Amino acid sequence: MARVARPIPGFAAAGDALLSSLAGVGPRVAEKLATRGLLTLQDLWLHLPRQYEDRTSLTAIRDLRAGVAAQVEGVVEAVERGFRYRPSLRVAIGDESHGTLVLRFFHFRAQQAAQFSPGARVRCYGMPRAGGKGMEMVHPSYRVVGDAGDALGEQLDPVYPAIEGIGPASLRKLIGQALEKLPEAEALELLPASMRDALALPSLRDALLTMHRPPRDADIAALLAGTHPAQQRLALEELLAHHLSLRRQRIALQRHRAPVLAGKGKLAQRLQDALPFALTGAQSRVYAQVRHDLAQPHPMLRLVQGDVGSGKTVVAALAAMLAVEGGRQAALMAPTELLAEQHLVNLRAWLEPLGVRVAWLAGKVTGRARTQVLAAVASGEAQVVVGTHALMQESVAFDDLALAIVDEQHRFGVHQRLALRDKGAGGDSVPHQLVMTATPIPRTLAMAAYADLDVSAIDELPPGRTPVQTVALSADRRPELVERIRAACAEGRQAYWVCTLIDDSDEVIAQAAQTTFESLSAALPHVRVGLVHGRMKAAEKQATMRAFKDGDLDLLVATTVIEVGVDVPNASLMVVENAERLGLSQLHQLRGRVGRGSAVSSCVLLYQSPLSQMAKQRLETMRETNDGFVIAEKDLQLRGPGELLGTRQTGLAAFRVADLARDAALLPRVRTLADQLLADDPALADRIIDRWVGGAARYASA
Ligand code: ADP
Ligand code: MG
Repeated sequence: MARVARPIPGFAAAGDALLSSLAGVGPRVAEKLATRGLLTLQDLWLHLPRQYEDRTSLTAIRDLRAGVAAQVEGVVEAVERGFRYRPSLRVAIGDESHGTLVLRFFHFRAQQAAQFSPGARVRCYGMPRAGGKGMEMVHPSYRVVGDAGDALGEQLDPVYPAIEGIGPASLRKLIGQALEKLPEAEALELLPASMRDALALPSLRDALLTMHRPPRDADIAALLAGTHPAQQRLALEELLAHHLSLRRQRIALQRHRAPVLAGKGKLAQRLQDALPFALTGAQSRVYAQVRHDLAQPHPMLRLVQGDVGSGKTVVAALAAMLAVEGGRQAALMAPTELLAEQHLVNLRAWLEPLGVRVAWLAGKVTGRARTQVLAAVASGEAQVVVGTHALMQESVAFDDLALAIVDEQHRFGVHQRLALRDKGAGGDSVPHQLVMTATPIPRTLAMAAYADLDVSAIDELPPGRTPVQTVALSADRRPELVERIRAACAEGRQAYWVCTLIDDSDEVIAQAAQTTFESLSAALPHVRVGLVHGRMKAAEKQATMRAFKDGDLDLLVATTVIEVGVDVPNASLMVVENAERLGLSQLHQLRGRVGRGSAVSSCVLLYQSPLSQMAKQRLETMRETNDGFVIAEKDLQLRGPGELLGTRQTGLAAFRVADLARDAALLPRVRTLADQLLADDPALADRIIDRWVGGAARYASA
């Protein structure tokens, strides 16, 4: 994002100064700072401590407690150097409390060792632990002080996130210098006084100084927990800036025109009439919202959240019919070939009987076939185009794209979504966008993450689905499970066996799946077993999936490639190995593969003992609920938003102070403040965005 230079008295002048204006910052240091996105004074102001060390007081050696960092002062009583296994230096110091503390060093220089002559007075800070004879500290920070001792610190010492190539002491000095240049409170402040007063928040200047140099009586527990008013003040402004930036993008989008799709909806009606089922109330409601949006002269930007199996595809198809009826094109993009093909199969079955022409474009469509598809897309002969990322390639030109639908949008980056949108841009007009996700995002998070989108929820499953029964079993009960699969398959039911590993490499996971496939095939001679994993050729994978779907296989051993969207109603048993290693949202996605038919389905989560506390909670949650929204909330609490949204949702991962899980309570307030600012003082809103989001954008691109 380009940063527009705007003359902002005081703050900008000071804050935008480059770091090379500080003493000790030459080109080399500047470069190291830049790799962490630190370019200006303001960036250093916002480089906040991650920890504090309390050197404002001395603790008597007798009062030291293991695990509680402390500062002590004592006189060297004995020094011992050892070389037996590795070099080591042990220094015993004692103080007036008649306690003895041993300082241990494993890396040290001769000169350092020489400082510890018996009788020297040493002040040190570190983490005590119980040693062989009383307390010890390993590699404490220390210095030799005069007999009278030195003055104690007035403030808690900040510990900053490390920056490669710059020592902690130098970094502290640089930040200290930068803080000397902090403007007066009035010049620095962007939040209107009325807002600050109403919330009883400190000024930005005070908040920053408190964070960097907390007074000795500061509530250090609150600071470390991120709940101190100084942090809340910073978090609020940061969240506000991000929210404003998304709102701004939305306002900018709304200035464009979009095709008005306000036909009678006859084609969509014919599709509804032809479907073997009636829409659920939730589907009808969301379709009505979409239809209303599409009839506007401005682009729709709507996110449809719906649990796995809630029937999002039909809603997308109905929306596409509105575009086709208007004589224009719709495109549907899915993140994997498997999913895209499934959409293709569905849409062809639904739409071709209505005389709608559906085209297919994926990476594996090559040569003549590709040329033909591209021509059909460019001429408008193809009315609905289904595909993968291939849809976004430069060579793809639409005749008149009015609606871009993106499935499972969390798997795409924001930029990819925009690339598809830009396919339809002509003059001032851009296509409508419909994005669909089966990873529900908690309401609080949605407000922050998708302030630029309208959000609808399909919060009802089609009738006749029975909730999946979930059990957690220790892996040593695997033999029972194999027996259960045998019984289920004998009754004509189908099952999934999902192999997961913490290892990210496709290779290792594929190997594990292969091994499982072999052992299950051997243990279940009368069961037809198939295997899919990410290292197989697409055609092979596809053939196996199809065979499973057609009922020619009973048991499918798979990696998480089956995670999203695959639909086999007859499959009613799922086993997930190493379930303790997966996040809640992923487990929920996997579980959504079963329970799609009318048979009672079960999901068995196999785990390796012993379980961590976090894993226990996750499995418990999975047993307790089938509701994707509840699970998403829980996932947010347990893991935080970065994991939930994936790092690709940039902007969110780049918060400096705010933490969405911790600070979720601020979000409603952020929203009202944003409304107020956009109405009263849009220029001020821009300055707030610029302060926080400009830097984050640079960080993300660094
Ligand atoms: P998802 O929201 O996970 O993408 P799908 O669109 O794949 O769900 O729908 C899951 C299954 O439910 C499909 O087989 C679909 O045909 C079916 N389905 C969708 N809507 C209904 C409905 N209203 N009644 C019955 N079945 C439906
Ligand atoms: Mg789907």
